[in-house]
Amino acid sequence: MRNVTVLAGGVGGARFTRGLLAHLAVAAPDATVTVIVNTGDDMWLDGLRICPDLDTVMYTLGGGINEEQGWGRPDESRRASAEIAAYGRGWSWFTLGDLDLATHIVRTDLLRDGSTLSAATEFLCRRWQPGARLLPMSDQPVETYVCLAKNIDEHVAGDYIHFEEWWVRYRARVAITGFEQRGLAEAVAAPGVLEAIGEADLVVLPPSNPVVSVGTILAVPGVRAALRSTAARVVGVSPIIGGAAVRGMADACLHTIGVETSALAVGRHYGARSAGGLLDAWLIDETDAAALPALAAAGIRSAAVPLWMTDLSATTAMAAAVLAL
Ligand code: GDP
Ligand code: CA
Repeated sequence: MRNVTVLAGGVGGARFTRGLLAHLAVAAPDATVTVIVNTGDDMWLDGLRICPDLDTVMYTLGGGINEEQGWGRPDESRRASAEIAAYGRGWSWFTLGDLDLATHIVRTDLLRDGSTLSAATEFLCRRWQPGARLLPMSDQPVETYVCLAKNIDEHVAGDYIHFEEWWVRYRARVAITGFEQRGLAEAVAAPGVLEAIGEADLVVLPPSNPVVSVGTILAVPGVRAALRSTAARVVGVSPIIGGAAVRGMADACLHTIGVETSALAVGRHYGARSAGGLLDAWLIDETDAAALPALAAAGIRSAAVPLWMTDLSATTAMAAAVLAL
């Protein structure tokens, strides 16, 4: 095993990759890991470019994550956010910690000076040393919006709001009719992204949100084709255990696109590579083992193992199971 490429969202992708790096450090110390990160959650806030998934992966792998929250920095303060609110600016439902703000200021400064997001990410990673190469899926801005099914607050049914507003402000409890990835059609894969898939020995779809994290990366022009044609094995890990998302709003996202919230349905949604889909193999939780025959019938080689990323050793064991499969 030399080159491993992971297609990650935020918390699920970051935690899995941390286990993968720990496993490879022992099992294949020469291996290199590239993480292609979703940028569909990115947005402008208070004049700053915020990249939630890139930061979650960078902080998690670099030892700077708030473990309880799963995002942001530990020992944060909110003094700058409070000052912005005192001016009547900012969004009351989205707080930026003071330490985290420094990351956004540096990133925005680099972008304003003409850096690409790839170059800005590489620069930020020089400090955090995440132990993997982090690539944004695209250097062009892509932002996921959701279409509201009902009126809420100042919004009316049919309005599109940013995905982060739906999730952070409304906890994904407001029904939506669909997703729109603005900028996606004009976006191109960032430098190195298609190569990282094409030249990998193993590509992993970690337990990230199948719709708004992995789904968005897959929709970047060229990415799905690169996965279909790579000589690497493509192995997925289910973010759904026992018919529920472990955390986050994957269930609401899956419901919106008409996919059942189950390890079987998500496996079928990605599909077997032999049948026009993406997966060579699919890892599900041990409690979902009843789905194994149906997955085999769909042409997807699967195994059932514990998939709760409760601590580093559990997550390292998951990564080992992916390599074994
Ligand atoms: P986000 O961008 O922060 O929402 O993170 P991701 O898209 O990377 O990951 C979100 C997904 O991770 C959710 O669908 C969760 O179900 C999944 N997830 C979180 N923790 C675990 C875990 O311990 N085990 C598994 N199997 N999935 C998890
Ligand atoms: Ca995300």
